[in-house]
Amino acid sequence: MSDTFPPIREELRGIEPYGAPQLPSDRVPVQLNVNENPYGPSDACLADIAASVTDAARTLNRYPDREFVALRTALASYLSRDVAGEITPAQVWAANGSNEVMLQVLQAFGGPGRTALSFAPTYSMYPEYARDTHTRWLAGHREDDFSLDLDSARALVEAEQPEVVLLPSPNNPTGTALPPEAITVLCEAVGQRGVVVVDEAYGEFRRTGVPSALELLSSHRNLVVTRTMSKAFAGAGLRLGYLAADPAICDAIRVVRLPYHLSAVTQAAALAGVRHAPELLGKVDELRAERDRTVAWLRDQGFTAADSDANFVLFGQFDDRHAVWQGLLDRGVLIRETGPDGWLRVSVGTADEMIAFQKALMEVTG
Ligand SMILES: *Cc1c(COP(=O)(O)O)cnc(C)c1O
Repeated sequence: MSDTFPPIREELRGIEPYGAPQLPSDRVPVQLNVNENPYGPSDACLADIAASVTDAARTLNRYPDREFVALRTALASYLSRDVAGEITPAQVWAANGSNEVMLQVLQAFGGPGRTALSFAPTYSMYPEYARDTHTRWLAGHREDDFSLDLDSARALVEAEQPEVVLLPSPNNPTGTALPPEAITVLCEAVGQRGVVVVDEAYGEFRRTGVPSALELLSSHRNLVVTRTMSKAFAGAGLRLGYLAADPAICDAIRVVRLPYHLSAVTQAAALAGVRHAPELLGKVDELRAERDRTVAWLRDQGFTAADSDANFVLFGQFDDRHAVWQGLLDRGVLIRETGPDGWLRVSVGTADEMIAFQKALMEVTG
């Protein structure tokens, strides 16, 4: 009996919970492994969050606004900056991180007898949402340059008939943004039978001239675009992710969400964060420039670096990537051992952190 306790579902037995190692910052001063924003909130933003949370705390004896109307309205107007028309609050949904948003999408649109599809290399959480919702998981593949071959992607969708297609763009771990044609091809191939989720967790970091999938929302009813406050908004600790889609898709997700899933404290802090979007996006511009400098520096040193529209860079290629990762860690720089074999991923930090990364990498590989 003891070897089967606890009586967990068969397919979960022995599985380790997902997550990058969290090491204390006094042991590893330069943390460039989970694509966090290195800049904390400004003093003005901090004061606004504190005052807003205090205000929300006055009525913590009551359940929060289940429809989080004020927050949805603020997020809709923030997203509307990226489109010609307007995104309405009825098109916006939010949860505790975009991971929860996407799990809710799978709860509503996946399930037994249904299929979720992505193209590898892709975000490592997607197969877990599929597993946890009893959805069949299927991974196609990207080309050697991490782009999608549209003919074979369309053929795979037609053959497998997935109800959910998950497309991170910019992609994690490669940094690759998908062109609008790719999203259009997949939305048309999936048709009314399923939904296409474009995961724009890194959307704000895309290079100038690279469009957001938000622009395609008005052309495809089955398109869902997810965003998060974890990266550009420097709010990883806040846990707030959201999506924009047809209001009927938001209504379907309402059926599976837990009641009052967004706490009054979360709603208040997130609203304050959105109010400070302009100053936060100023820091995003600094990080985009630092990202471009990092790609150029890596290539100058003779490494391969994938083009990046995100706040990280996938680089290589190493015969023994673990040894390089370990060498950097020994020098106080934590990056991520992920992506295709031979590659490593470094998040873009402050200018000082990137100098420490460069110095350590030269020592390890020099
Ligand atoms: C970081 C990341 C997210 C964001 O997750 P949250 O739950 O919002 O913190 C979503 N998708 C991808 C691909 C990511 O890398």
